[in-house]
Amino acid sequence: MKGAKIIGIVTAVIVVLVLLVTVFLFKGKENNNERIKIVASFYPVYTAVQRVTQGVEGVEVVSLAPSQTGCLHDYQLTPDNMISLKQADALIINGAGAESFLGNIDENHPDLNVLDTSKGIELIEDDHSHQHEEGDHEAEEYNQHIWTSPTNYIKQIENIRDGLIRIDPDYADEYKENAQKYIGQIKDIRSELLKAVDTLFTKKCFIFHGSLEYFAKDLGLEPILYLSLGEGAGVSAADLANASRLAGNAGKILLIYDDQYDTEYNSVAKDAELSRIIKIDTAVTRSNTDTDAWINAMMRNLDEIKKAAA
Ligand SMILES: [Zn+2]
Repeated sequence: MKGAKIIGIVTAVIVVLVLLVTVFLFKGKENNNERIKIVASFYPVYTAVQRVTQGVEGVEVVSLAPSQTGCLHDYQLTPDNMISLKQADALIINGAGAESFLGNIDENHPDLNVLDTSKGIELIEDDHSHQHEEGDHEAEEYNQHIWTSPTNYIKQIENIRDGLIRIDPDYADEYKENAQKYIGQIKDIRSELLKAVDTLFTKKCFIFHGSLEYFAKDLGLEPILYLSLGEGAGVSAADLANASRLAGNAGKILLIYDDQYDTEYNSVAKDAELSRIIKIDTAVTRSNTDTDAWINAMMRNLDEIKKAAA
């Protein structure tokens, strides 16, 4: 009698445990059906990876830096970031020094599969955008804003595509198709931008942010002066006097700003006979769900250039 009762209790406990484990496993599967987890370093890389992985079953993409971060110049690694990196099957970075907050990635994260999207892109040495800074910024060797150039961005997409095919070869066709579609869109907007730049009254410009250097170069704009605003650096009275003189000499000048930053120095064009302001969206912050953030930013830039040409 006593023995049977114990057996009954034990059986009941086992049944409950089995049920619990089943529910747990089932729930776990339901919430966690991803095959691979990709961590992108920040917004421009994140949206690019989203486009290349769109509709591919079981791929989870997360951004290390929150989408409103903007450029990573001041970014610091958080405890949450460390957890994300631990769980990641791959980390996709911009490269060109943008992820300096990760330190030496190979040393600090030896098991992490790191995909550098800047591979094969000709980097511009950063000799003007951060020269006035002291203290909290470390000197940056290269200009990291490669994604602002459509041509470079295409290369980044190709690197993401090839990296994902290596990691997840069974879905190679999907990655290729997504990348091809996206690259087609980027090529279209680039040719629209080139056409618009051709209608401007001059290609000579002042560039107020290092973030616009690749953009300007790719679209055939001709920067005659760089002044670095908003990313830690200030502009001196001597810089402004020099800018005014150059604008006067040029006669016609475009003032090109990065719309991440509010400061403007439009008075530097006072000695020019004709000047226009162009504000460029560098696609560095937007809503998390907007996978077309880069394309939409470039559409806005196209409008800005057309407005300046009118
Ligand atoms: Zn920046």
